[in-house]
Amino acid sequence: MTDLGAHRIARIEQGDLVSHYPRMIGRNSHLGSHGTGHASRYAVIHTDGGAAGWGLLRGPLDDGSALIGRAVADLFDPTTGVTDAAANVLDIALHDLAGVLLGQPVYRMLGADGATDVPCYSGAIYMDDLDPEEDPDGTDAVLRNCAQDHDAGYRAFKLKIGRGYRWMTPEAGLERDIAVTRLVREAYPDLPILVDGNNGFTGPDFLTYLDAVRDCGLFWVEEPFQEDRADLAALSEQLRHTSPATLIADGELDPDVPFLLDLAREGLLDVLLMDIVSFGMTAWRRLMPELRGLGVMSSPHAWGDPIKSLYTAQLAARLGDDVTVEAVPGTTDGIDTSGYVLRDGRLHVPDLPGFGIAPPSPSASRAATPGGLGSPHSRHRRPGSPSQP
Ligand SMILES: [Mg+2]
Repeated sequence: MTDLGAHRIARIEQGDLVSHYPRMIGRNSHLGSHGTGHASRYAVIHTDGGAAGWGLLRGPLDDGSALIGRAVADLFDPTTGVTDAAANVLDIALHDLAGVLLGQPVYRMLGADGATDVPCYSGAIYMDDLDPEEDPDGTDAVLRNCAQDHDAGYRAFKLKIGRGYRWMTPEAGLERDIAVTRLVREAYPDLPILVDGNNGFTGPDFLTYLDAVRDCGLFWVEEPFQEDRADLAALSEQLRHTSPATLIADGELDPDVPFLLDLAREGLLDVLLMDIVSFGMTAWRRLMPELRGLGVMSSPHAWGDPIKSLYTAQLAARLGDDVTVEAVPGTTDGIDTSGYVLRDGRLHVPDLPGFGIAPPSPSASRAATPGGLGSPHSRHRRPGSPSQP
C-alpha cells in the first residue's frame, strides 16, 4: 500500500495566484490587451497526516466539504490520475499531493525515465506593433520583445498573427503579418518560429500568408482558422509542397476531441493543444496512448499563468513526445519556482516531489518573488515533505 491510502483529506484552502508578465502583453487576432499579469484560483489540499498538495483549479470549487475525510487513494490513482468525478477540479492539486506522498516528481510518477529538460518557446510575442493606440510602436516593438525573451533564455518564438481579423483591414493586416514574420526570421535565422492565428483567418487568406513566408521555415502554424476539414486539407497540401517540415497545431479553443482525433487520423493535424488545466492532466494521460498510436504530438496550452508552463513541462518530461512547451514568461507572487531553470531554450524540471513548488504562503501572497521561470536560484525543498527520491 502506498501512502495515498493512509492520508485523508483534512481541509481545502483556496486563494488567488497572481502572476506578472515581464511587460505589457498586447493583442491577438480576437482579443485586446492581455495586460501585465493574470490571476487564477488555486486550492491547497491538506491531509490528516500533515501533507499538502496544491495547484490551479480546473473550475469553481465550493468549500470542498464533500471531499473532507476521503482517503487520497479513493480519489486518485498515480497510474491514471483522478478517479472520482467529484475531485475533477482538483486534478492538478491531486497530482501534486500524490507526488508529495510518494516522494516523486510528477513526471516520474507518470512513468518518465527520460530527459528532464524539455524544449520550450516564448508564447509572449503578441501584436505589440499596434500599441499604444495613439502612437503605435510598429514592428520594432515585436523585435524588442523577441530580444527581451531571448535574453531571458528563450530560443523559439510564437508570433501572433491575424491582424486583419479585427485590428487592420484584411489587406493591411496580411501585409503586416508577413512583414513581422519575415523580420523575426531575419533577426533570428536559426531559431524556431511558430505562428498563431487564433482562428483569425479564412482558409484562402491563410494560404496567401503562408505562400508569402514559404521560405521562413515555420516550425508550426497554430489555429489558423476554425477547424474545418476542407481548409485543413488545403493547408496540408500547400505545406507538403512548400514547407513539409511545418507542423499543424490545433485544439486549443473549445476542443471537440473526437473530431480532432478524426482529423489527426486523416493526417490533417500534427499537434494537439488542449489546455493543461481546463482539459486537465488526467484527460491528457488518458488520451496519450491513442495519440502516440496516431503519431500525433502534444503541446498543452498554457497561456495565462507562468505556472501552467511548469505543469506542462512535467507532462512533457514524462511523455517524451511533447514537441515543445508553451512558456508563459513571468513571475508569480508567493511561490518559489526556482527549481525550474530555463537555459538555452530548454526548461529543466526539478527532481523534487510533486510539482516541486511549495504552496503559496498567504502572508507573502502579495509580495513579488524574484524566482520566476528562468531564474537559476538554488533549489528549495518542500518543508515537511517525505524523503527525496
Ligand atoms: Mg494559441
